[in-house]
Amino acid sequence: MATLFRDFADLCKKLEKTSSILHKRELIARFLMKLEKDEWKPFVLLLTGKILPEAEGKSLYIGYSTIKKAIEMKVSTLVPLPQPSILEVYQVFIEISSISGADSTRRRIEALASLFNRLSEEEKNYLIRSLFGEMRIGAVEGIVIQALADASGNSYDDLRKAYLLLGDIGYIAETLAYNKLDIKNLKPIIFNPIRTMLATPADSIEEAYELAKGPVAVEVKYDGVRVQIHYKNGVIRIFSRRLTDITRFLPEVIAEINASFKVNSVSEAIIEGEVIAVDAEEKPLPFQILMRRFRRIKDFDKVAANIPIKLYLFDILYLNGELLIDMPYRDRYEILRDTVNKELLAERIVADDIHQAKEFYEEAIEKGHEGAIIKKLDSPYILGVRGSHWIKVKEIATIDTVIVGAEWGHGRRRNWLSDYYLAVYSAAIDEFMIVGKTYKGLTDEEFEWITKKLLELKIADEGYRIWVKPEIVVEVAFNDIQKSPKYESGIALRFARITRFRPDKDPKDITTIEELKRLYLKSFRDII
Ligand code: ATP
Repeated sequence: MATLFRDFADLCKKLEKTSSILHKRELIARFLMKLEKDEWKPFVLLLTGKILPEAEGKSLYIGYSTIKKAIEMKVSTLVPLPQPSILEVYQVFIEISSISGADSTRRRIEALASLFNRLSEEEKNYLIRSLFGEMRIGAVEGIVIQALADASGNSYDDLRKAYLLLGDIGYIAETLAYNKLDIKNLKPIIFNPIRTMLATPADSIEEAYELAKGPVAVEVKYDGVRVQIHYKNGVIRIFSRRLTDITRFLPEVIAEINASFKVNSVSEAIIEGEVIAVDAEEKPLPFQILMRRFRRIKDFDKVAANIPIKLYLFDILYLNGELLIDMPYRDRYEILRDTVNKELLAERIVADDIHQAKEFYEEAIEKGHEGAIIKKLDSPYILGVRGSHWIKVKEIATIDTVIVGAEWGHGRRRNWLSDYYLAVYSAAIDEFMIVGKTYKGLTDEEFEWITKKLLELKIADEGYRIWVKPEIVVEVAFNDIQKSPKYESGIALRFARITRFRPDKDPKDITTIEELKRLYLKSFRDII
């Protein structure tokens, strides 16, 4: 029998009430076991706030204003409508996703309004939270995967690996429900991006070398955009660090990869690298210049011609049917070298001692690069993890924050939202915590752009200030970190200023509260 959305809302209420991870896991697993097979996917998507499928990084045009209008719209019906099931709610969003054309905004609002009309206030509240991707009930992906493992009789480690490799929790739920996931012989799905391996920061090249302990490669840390390139029989798709499809912005990369793979008879591959902007002599240009390419859709060719790029490859994850991620980096690199044109390889050395590593690092900085990455030669490629196998060192230390609110400016800035609340992420409670406020670092053009964007992301309006969906990631520099009762986080950045936008970064991948507290303690230690 179809499960009612009412039952889903009841589960959300229970999840919200308990802070025990174990209890949450049990509640979700038990709920899953009562569901019909075809309900697993919609349920998991609703629970993790992923019901709105994303196409090329754009959500389904259901923003704050669409939802607000749908709530306000009066829908009258002659007879009371039956309560919708989880499947019916899901179906409404499938229908909304196919709405297009001139009248589409109105039709989306109407479809949403008639769904809201069939829900109680509480049910509506949970649905809206899910649509915003902000459930705030602690049903983070890790717990849902645990519960999926429990309900399907698989191990958590296997399922987590499957999730990171296949990237789609809805797909995992669906295939598990029908017992169709071949856990032991997992293969990536070409054109479904894989969660990338990340690096841990170190303060100096000496510290990084020390931390790595053992044989390492030292590579240039290029300041550009991470690319994961999927190839199948001449077709190429390129994904960013946030796993969005950025193929159309990088036609030169397509040409280079095609040329490389043709001579090396590759039929399928997934490789990774970094794309940077360069000048006429192929010297690196700042990240902001590269970003201009990604903002342009109109006149793209003209913009692209003025911003030449260069691709540097550093890893290979899959080749001709074989998953390579569990191989040591040493071997993966050799395969990469034999598969692509040598000019495309990232600059690197295999360092025998700290002096060689240091020399390489200093040369990289001199050439205008951001820093270096030390990589352990015997390390596997660990999906989605910021581990100690890769250690990065940069010349300038900054942190990444997300904007969660903004205040209207005064005087010259009165038409702009110009004072921003900056937050870091706490993975433990899946919440963003404010650590500072700034109005520094942006140009007038950027104030204008960000005001428009923030209004689209608005979730609450207090007149002089608004709160927004955490979406805009900004890198900030600061003078100091202080203890402060002002924010719930207990700490505040002093003299924070925005150094750049990081649209390539997912809000949940920013600096964490734990990292910031560690930095605070470190700065304290340096003083005494
Ligand atoms: P940052 O903010 O320092 O650019 P990040 O948080 O985006 O880093 P990290 O995992 O901390 O990501 O650092 C690794 C990133 O550095 C990669 O995602 C990639 O974009 C970039 N990078 C540049 N050169 C290399 C390289 N040779 N090997 C691996 N990653 C590289």
